[in-house]
Amino acid sequence: MQVIPVPCLSDNYAYLVVQGRIAAVVDPSEADPVLRAIEEHGLKLTEIWLTHHHWDHVGGIEPLVEECPVAAVRGSRYDAKHERIPSQTDALSDGDSFDFEGATVDIVEIPGHTLGAIAFITEGNLFSGDTLFIAGCGRVFEGTMGMMAQSLTKLRSLPADTKVWCGHEYTINNLRFARTIEPGNAEITRAFEEAMATREAKRFTVPGRLARELATNPFLRFDHPDVAAGRDPVASFTAIRRAKDNF
Ligand code: ZN
Ligand code: FE
Repeated sequence: MQVIPVPCLSDNYAYLVVQGRIAAVVDPSEADPVLRAIEEHGLKLTEIWLTHHHWDHVGGIEPLVEECPVAAVRGSRYDAKHERIPSQTDALSDGDSFDFEGATVDIVEIPGHTLGAIAFITEGNLFSGDTLFIAGCGRVFEGTMGMMAQSLTKLRSLPADTKVWCGHEYTINNLRFARTIEPGNAEITRAFEEAMATREAKRFTVPGRLARELATNPFLRFDHPDVAAGRDPVASFTAIRRAKDNF
């Protein structure tokens, strides 16, 4: 399996998940960059996977369905019920799995940013949408702070070598914020310096590694004694998320 990031809009990532010459695309914000990548790599697009319904993740579905032999448009059960992912064919729930060209893809529901939000996990790759970013997390729009904290707690229990492919390139700003939460955390400083060099070289900061996220991401560390400082876990998460909203 190969994963090819496709930058879209100003800071979104779509991803091609490739088995042989067959590809699925995760969160196609827009069709043109995805079509160019498919052409360039000589692939055939047969599936579209959506982490959630926001326009900057689903905007490319309709033109892709017109241009390519797409057999499945997979999103959450909640988004299917609310008919908010165009052309959705499959409704997925927590614990579901499906086969993609011989690879098993597992679904974890991670509500909070939106109420319909799922992660796709396959062969050590996590597609986390706008729930888990490198060194950050998405804003809590539809769910509650407790729900988002619970969803991130689910994701942090995945194997430490999991590759994190997230919905946006927000890494540098996220690490700047992370430094304000834990000024003495040397791993954050190291990650920040690496991310700066990566972006200066015009490369992507994805994929992240879960092991590093556990050591640097304040939204996975909200209940660590150094971060919570005596607050209960959800109160700590809420305070950090609110501080980030105003950062
Ligand atoms: Zn979103
Ligand atoms: Fe987004």
